[in-house]
Parts: sequence; C-alpha cells; structure tokens
Amino acid sequence: MATHDPGGQQYDFLEFETPGYDEEDDAYTPFGRGGDGGTYEPGARKEGTGAAAFLGLPQEWTAASAASLPRAPLGKQEQPRGSGKEEENGGLGHVTAGIKALHLQNDAHNGHDAEEEDGAGSLGSSSDEELGEDASHLQEHEEEEEGEGLDTPEYACRYCGIHDPACVVRCVESNKWFCNSRWNTTGSHIIQHLVKARNKTVALHPQSPLGDTVLECYNCGCRNVFLLGFIPAKSDSVVVLLCREPCLSNGALKDLDWDLAQWMPLIEDRAFLPWLVRVPSEQEQLRARQITAGQIQKLEEAWKENAEATLEEVERQGGEGEEEGVAVLLKYEDGYHYQNVLAPLVKMEADYDKKMKEQQSQDGVSVTWDEGLSKRKVASFRFGRGEEEAGLTVGDELRLKLDVLTARMHGVNGGQAWEGVGNVLRMADGEVSLEMRVSHCPTEVRDGFSVEFVWKSTSFDRMQGALKTFAVDDASISGYLYHKLLGHEVEPQTLRVSLPKRFSVPHLPDLNHSQFQAVKSVLQKPLSLIQGPPGTGKTVTSASIVYHLAQQGVGQVLVVAPSNVAVDHLTEKIHATGLKVVRLAAKSREGVDSSVDHLCLHTMITTLATPEQEELSKLRQLKAELGELVPQDEAKFRKLKTAVGREVLKAADVICCTCVGAGDPRLKNFRFRQVLIDEATQAMEAECLIPIVMGCKQLIMVGDHCQLPPVITCKKAAKAGLTQSLFERLIILGHRPHRLQVQYRMHPCLSAFPSNMFYEGTLQNGITEDERSPDRVSFPWPTPTKPMFFWIQTGAEELSSSGTSYLNRSEASATERICTALLKVGVEAGKIGVITPYQGQRAHLILHMARTGPASASWRTLAG
Ligand SMILES: [Zn+2]
Ligand SMILES: [Zn+2]
Repeated sequence: MATHDPGGQQYDFLEFETPGYDEEDDAYTPFGRGGDGGTYEPGARKEGTGAAAFLGLPQEWTAASAASLPRAPLGKQEQPRGSGKEEENGGLGHVTAGIKALHLQNDAHNGHDAEEEDGAGSLGSSSDEELGEDASHLQEHEEEEEGEGLDTPEYACRYCGIHDPACVVRCVESNKWFCNSRWNTTGSHIIQHLVKARNKTVALHPQSPLGDTVLECYNCGCRNVFLLGFIPAKSDSVVVLLCREPCLSNGALKDLDWDLAQWMPLIEDRAFLPWLVRVPSEQEQLRARQITAGQIQKLEEAWKENAEATLEEVERQGGEGEEEGVAVLLKYEDGYHYQNVLAPLVKMEADYDKKMKEQQSQDGVSVTWDEGLSKRKVASFRFGRGEEEAGLTVGDELRLKLDVLTARMHGVNGGQAWEGVGNVLRMADGEVSLEMRVSHCPTEVRDGFSVEFVWKSTSFDRMQGALKTFAVDDASISGYLYHKLLGHEVEPQTLRVSLPKRFSVPHLPDLNHSQFQAVKSVLQKPLSLIQGPPGTGKTVTSASIVYHLAQQGVGQVLVVAPSNVAVDHLTEKIHATGLKVVRLAAKSREGVDSSVDHLCLHTMITTLATPEQEELSKLRQLKAELGELVPQDEAKFRKLKTAVGREVLKAADVICCTCVGAGDPRLKNFRFRQVLIDEATQAMEAECLIPIVMGCKQLIMVGDHCQLPPVITCKKAAKAGLTQSLFERLIILGHRPHRLQVQYRMHPCLSAFPSNMFYEGTLQNGITEDERSPDRVSFPWPTPTKPMFFWIQTGAEELSSSGTSYLNRSEASATERICTALLKVGVEAGKIGVITPYQGQRAHLILHMARTGPASASWRTLAG
C-alpha cells in the first residue's frame, strides 16, 4: 500500500534541467588529456590495493608535498611511506583495517607506460582475489589492443558502449561498467545506473589515470559515492575523499591541514566530476549508441530478472511484453466497464509495489533483542537505505532470518536455519522495532541476520473485491449512487429526512456559516462533496455530520479515511460528541500506540461486560502466563474473541476504520447505508469503493482536490490516471462541492496567497491579525506587521545518500539559524514547523539541527 506521506517518494525523482557539461569550466583537467595522465609509484599503489580515498592529482605532484601529506590521521595504520615494511604490510593493512589512503605519484613516464607498470605493481602485492581481478583486466587490455574494433571490451558502458578507460567506472554491486556521459539524458550513465539499481559503490578502471580503486571515505571507509566528496589540499594537488555524513559534519580531519569548507561532492549535476572520471568528448558521444531514457528504464527493469540482458534483447521482447494500461475515463458504461478499466491498473500498481518492497531484502543485519509489553520478543535493527526508511509503515511485516551457518556457529535453533515474521511496531531514526509473532527467537545471536519484506496483497485484494462487488452485486450500492459514480445523468434526488433544530453538536465548537450550510445540505442529499482548504474545520464539520446521521436511526454510520492518522483524529472528535464509536484497527497495528487506544475494538473486547467475558479473560490470562495456549484453547480463545468483537461492533453507533479496513473480515455481513470518507482526495478510487459497496445509500466525501492526490508508485499506472481520486473525477463531471470558506489557522497575510491562487479568492479569515499577532515575539520581520518573508539561499543541491533525492547544505544551515533565532525570542520548539518536499533534505535537516541547534530543542519532531 502506498503511504500517504507528502514527503515521500513521489518527489524523489524530480529532476532538474541541468546545463550540459561545459568543458571550459573544468578546473580539474589533469587527466586523460594530451597524455599527461599520472603514473604511479608501485610501492605507494600497493597500500591502497583496491580502495582509494586519497587521490593525488598528478599534474603538480612533487616529492616534497608527498612528505607533507597527513597520513592516516586517525592513527589507524601509521606506516612509513615507501618503505619495504609497507610493501609487506600493504595487503594485510587492507584486509585488517581497510586503510583508505592511496597515494599516486606522477613520475616522468607517460600515461601508457604507467598503466602497465601500475598493473604489474598491483600484481606484486595484491591479495589473491584482487590478483585474479587485476590479471583479468590486464588480459582484456591486451585483447583489446589486438582485436580493436572487433568487439567491445567488458568495460564498455552498458548503456552506450563507450569504452575509454578514463571515462568509465564499474558499479561494484552490479559489476557492470558505465560511462560518465550524460548524452540526451538527465544524469550521466553511471549515476543513472546507480540510482536506478539502488547501488552506491564504484571502482575506477585499472587503466584509468587513477588506477583500479574503489572510492571510499578516507576517515571511515564509507563507500557510498552519493556521500563522498573531496577536499583539495592547499599546498599541493592532492585531494582527500571524505564522506558528508558523518565525517565532514563531525569535523574529522579538521585538526590537520584540511579545510573542510572546501569540501565538494564527487557528483555534480548528476555526473562524476570530470577530473575523477572523464566525460567523453562530443565526438565520442556521437559515435556511441544513442540510448534514450526510456531504453535505460527498460534495460534496468530487465536486469532485475536477468543481469546479462542486453538492450537488443529487451527491444526485441518489447513489442509483445509491453502492455500499456488503458487510461481511466470520466464516464463508464456500467460496472463491468468500470472494473475492466480500473482493475488492471490496480493490479499494475500492486505488482510494482510488490517488486519494490521485495527488493529491499538486506543481509548482515545486527539485531538488539528486547521484550515487548505483550511479552513478545522485539527485534530492533537498522533497515532501509539511509533516509528512505525503506517506505515502511507501522504494521508492515518483515521476516527475520538466520542461515544454517550462523545458527551452527552460535549453536542456536539446533543448528538449523531459523526464520520468524514480525510486525513493525515503530520506526525512529532509521531504526525499526519489530514485534515478533513467534515465541522462539535466537535472542543470543546479535549479528548476521537477514531481513525481508513480507509483501501483503490485502489492500489490493480488497480493492479488486470492491470493484467486482460494484459490478455484480445490485444490492451493494443504491441505484442513484451507482449511476452517479459511473458518470451517468441522473435526476437529482433529495432525501426525506427531518432536519435537526440545532446544527451545532454537543462538545464541538459552534458551526460557522459555511460549515452550517454544508452540514444542512449534506444531510438531505444522497451524494455530497465537501471541499475543505487547510484550517477550515473539516474534522469538526465531518464529526457534526456523523452526529446528525447517527441521530436519524437508520443504522450504523461508517466513517473512513485512507490514513490511520486521519481515522484516529476523526474517531476522537466523534467520541467527543457522545456517540458510541468503535475504531477498528488492522490486526497488525494492535500493538501500536495511538491516541484512541481506548476506543479500539481490540481494547474494548477486554472491557465489555458480556456473558463470554469471564471465560475470555481467563484464557487471556493463561495465554499471558504461558506465552502460548494449547491448540484447543487457542481455537476457543479466538472464537470467543470474534463473538465478543461482533457484539462490540454491533453496539456501536459509528464504526471508524481506514478505507482498506472496511474490507476487514470482522465487518463481514455488516451493512452501512451512510458512509463518510475523509481525506477522500488522497485515496485511490478503488480504495474508496471498499467502504461504499457495503450497501451505501448516502455518501459524503470530504477532501481538497487542491491538495495532494493519492500516492501511486508505479509510474505507468500513475500515467494511466490512477492518481485521479473519485472526488476529483466527480468534480470534473460537474458535481459542485460545498466549500468551507473560513480558515482559522493562518495569519490573514498568509491565507491571501492560497485563497487567490487555489480558491478563487473565496477563503475568508476566521481570525484577525490581532489574534495571530506576532508582537509577543520580536522577530525582525522585513515588514513588521506582516509575519512572513521569502529567503533566497543560493547553494548547490547535492544528491542525498540514496542517490534518489536531494539536499542543500547551505539552505539547511540557513533554516537552522532562523529556527534558532525564533527559539531565542521565545517561540516554543513545538510551534515551529519546517517543511521540505525532499526526503533527502528532511533527513539532512534533522541531523544538522540536532548537531548545530540549541540542545534544548526537540528537533526530531520538527521536520515534517
Ligand atoms: Zn555511456
Ligand atoms: Zn567517512
């Protein structure tokens, strides 16, 4: 299920128009031009053996500067340079501590001699593995020289075929080569591959001017190229590679001669800096295969199934395998037509979601074990790639595994492989807590676990089920609504109801004029849309409507929203009116804390006084003591729980759950004539249908089509229109929404813009300037009476650690300074919000603020 996180992935692939690479701008031209490439002193080369963090710029290299180099500043691998001892220790050092220093020296040789010497030098001291690798590279080199033009070498760019050793790098994870050309596309080939394949480590070509090296942080050994940058030394042309997090931020190497302010990322404008990996000339690019962005996409998709697939093969299959989804329509002939269009798109999204989630498996995970409240084991570990948090949501299922070898090594589980499934209980700072569903967990083992995402088709199955029900079951929805939803012309209908004398509701704020109008009209119509711009009291209006619907006594009211947060919020408000409300939470979320725990079905089961309660609580106690019940008792326990649960649900005036939750088996055979859908513009159409096809005769949808649409992860499905909500479609079909027009949230000077931009100037202010006056706070606003300003910060975007999002360090530091200034003049930390559309910037802001801002502030809650 896609999450409804506005900061989520939907922004991650925003790409900027970037100017083409301008050769004249190139300040780092020493390599690969005019044969002045570096040569290497074999002894020095060995120390790095395959990993580089310390790159010498050969152009102005001198012996004197070599001596002044800060060597292994953390004292890890202090070794005298160029001594025989070092030659002996080179390989060992690499293996034991992974020293990241590589010194390259420019001797008087020309480039080609140097390459051969480099190869030979490597052979002399490399570990066996590397020896094999180096030897094979050498061989290829020879083959290439002999049979030039006959066949492209292994290191040819898999996208375009360019194979100049200075222009290509190897993706270590996929073991494929790509060039640094961005011909026709929005990033260089290597960067595009890394991002699309979600890889992060690269190695330079053995015959490249810098030699066969894996790029990594000098200080910590981190190999994520999206985090790596370099600092040029002042005195000589040597650079050190340092990662942005944590080493640059921690000020590692500051004590030495390195000026951290000079740090620059290795990737700029989605290409490697040209001094590191040369950009092929225009001529070379013209001669190469002209691959398009679409072909790249196809090729990457194909590699997920078959790592050796070629573009030719992909293109050949393309004709038949390419099923474009039929685009959504505004009107449909009938329920079958509707199902025929939507069902394939929902399936497409489901398949894509499954593929993406299942790709997230991770090995070598370290786990800390704890015991949860329910005596279940809780495993905590880091999962996901950096700031992305793996798109996990609380309640998701993960499978934790231990292979035979690790189990034997620790003597656990009788030396057998172990695996157990759990539900995500919470996530914080990239750490996931998983409540295990099995009681036997190898809690004595901490390292060497694998984690897999257990993809559930439940939400998609329920959408498909609803589409089918809508098509085949006449009783699932009133005739009027059926035709309305299909876009047919229908005679307007008014419901015969007796309107309440008073529209305001117990324990909720009085309704303003536009809220009153909305409530009054909604109660008399079978289908209503309410558009609520931010701060206009959508929840109060919804709760008031639900209150009056429940008073009509025509059955239970079903209240849904796509997100759990919205459902909880509404549940609370409806509860405040005095109605009997039950919140039905998914079983996987029963362990999750929420503000409405006491209203949740699973909690109410334990408190309701019914004849079954006594026996039920006995069994529950027994289960808590023993951890597990014997199968007979377990079956009885479940049966009782189901029976009591049904009683609780039947006794309610209102049932609240997510749209998908309405398809819960516990609601089987329940009928709801009146359905209210909150946040309706953020739900997929088929998602909304789940609560609707339970006998709906009166439907109220609340939302704001001027805000975010539903999140669709599959681009093809999104393009075919799956991002269009039912609410939006009805508006396009001419259904006029009731607009809530008075906003209570913003200072009037802030509401002016959205009002004019999105709501034709109709948004009124329910608060005065005085009520939102900033005068308590002496912040230097440019116009003292208008608490707002725009701040333009120039500073380059950098790719985030995942390569799929962006961050801007100078913007983050300006944000921190403004927040700190606000805190200093007395604004509470909880009242400051920072919003960014980029996941990468969000993660960076949190880190940066926690590090730099006042310690008293709680920065975690701040970035949304
Ligand atoms: Zn290429
Ligand atoms: Zn580092």
